Amino acid sequence: MSKQILILKDKCKGCNLCVKACSFGAISVVEKIAVIDAAKCSYCGACEPACKFKAIEIKVDDIDRSSFSAYKGLWVYGENRDGVLAEVVYELVGEGRKLADKLKVELSVVIIGDKTQNLADDLFSYGVDNVYYIENKLLKDYDTNSYTKILEEAIEAHKPEIVLFGATSEGRSVAPRLAARVKTGLTADCTALDITADGDLAQTRPAFGGNIMATILCRTRPQLSTVRPHVMQKAAKLAKKGKKIELKSTIVEKDVVTKVLEFIKETRENVNLTESDIIIGAGRGVGSEENLKLIHQLAEKLGGVVGASRACVDAGWIDHFHQVGQTGKTVHPKIYIACGISGAIQHLAGMSSSDIIIAINKDADAPIFNVADLGIVGDVFTIIPALLKSL
Ligand SMILES: Cc1cc2nc3c(=O)[nH]c(=O)nc-3n(C[C@H](O)[C@H](O)[C@H](O)COP(=O)(O)OP(=O)(O)OC[C@H]3O[C@@H](n4cnc5c(N)ncnc54)[C@H](O)[C@@H]3O)c2cc1C
Ligand code: SF4
Ligand code: SF4
Repeated sequence: MSKQILILKDKCKGCNLCVKACSFGAISVVEKIAVIDAAKCSYCGACEPACKFKAIEIKVDDIDRSSFSAYKGLWVYGENRDGVLAEVVYELVGEGRKLADKLKVELSVVIIGDKTQNLADDLFSYGVDNVYYIENKLLKDYDTNSYTKILEEAIEAHKPEIVLFGATSEGRSVAPRLAARVKTGLTADCTALDITADGDLAQTRPAFGGNIMATILCRTRPQLSTVRPHVMQKAAKLAKKGKKIELKSTIVEKDVVTKVLEFIKETRENVNLTESDIIIGAGRGVGSEENLKLIHQLAEKLGGVVGASRACVDAGWIDHFHQVGQTGKTVHPKIYIACGISGAIQHLAGMSSSDIIIAINKDADAPIFNVADLGIVGDVFTIIPALLKSL
């Protein structure tokens, strides 16, 4: 693919607007003409619309679609352990069904492990058309090398146009390696997916530190994405029958390069943030670790758990395990009560899909009120004690 960025000197007024628009520091104005430093330019395209004088032109080759028709169908990677599928698989199946219906193609799940066939019937009942499986004792535990090899062989044999992975430790490990093997792109950590009018997968994810949402198209096939857990809705149950297809693989013992000796369960306090129906989110407005006791009391009274903004975590008031947001957990509770949280985009990325958002903030202009279903303008130290008293 070739890209070119041009400054049309006869139109450029040296106004500096493009310099401000470029987050990569790739533009300077020299003698009233914009100059692009090609080594710094990422071809993000932000400068082109910023120029009021139409003095910037970015030329990118059209996508070569000649090989795309060989690829058909949408696959979900069926992450599993000890014969149980990861929750995110059901979320990807829910989203995958909608996307596959838009494309009018089949939805398949590919499962690798030592007990996989028995998972197929369950997946069919969630609307999956096909389950590609491989059962082999060597594959009992996840191993990046052998799992990537199997997926690579499966993609070469069956040519899906889209493969979705959970953005879990496992998905984040296997998907990039696979993308390199099958010579395609990968969009990591997607929070929304759709199909364009041309039938491409529109992959949306936070970019530039979470300050913008970027929608990314892949110029090659297959299109690979990892998707954040707890962002997509789980699939609904459907009465459906599907097809089991055994994957052929050349895998042998020497391909399995890691050996799991033991699994050790995490011993820290198990805050089930992502499963909880009620989360009380604490922000910098709570003021101190000591004051967090009030938030814990409210959580206890309501049968919920405590979440936190990054400001609280960075201040050392609470463990990162509780952090909600772009670099923390994505939660989807029935009720999220944001206490002293301003509503930065990075925090919203983790909780804006909560069913009901209640915000308590003493600043009536705090952005959290833009997403809140119920807003209480007031001091948390007045509102929460009053709430506790009335419960
Ligand atoms: C790459 C990147 C990733 C990030 N990831 C995350 C993330 O995962 N999660 C996250 O949360 N943030 C994240 N952040 C940080 C984010 O940008 C914000 O800085 C952070 O969310 C702010 O936390 P806060 O709302 O608690 O604090 P502030 O923004 O300081 O807001 C405090 C709020 O409390 C209110 N307040 C003060 N006193 C009271 C009171 N007595 N009663 C009621 N209200 C009161 C104030 O009016 C204010 O609105 C990230 C930032 C970057 C750059
Ligand atoms: S915004 Fe346009 S006119 Fe202004 S300096 Fe940049 S290229 Fe030139
Ligand atoms: S395309 Fe993006 S990186 Fe390149 S000069 Fe324009 S704004 Fe800067």
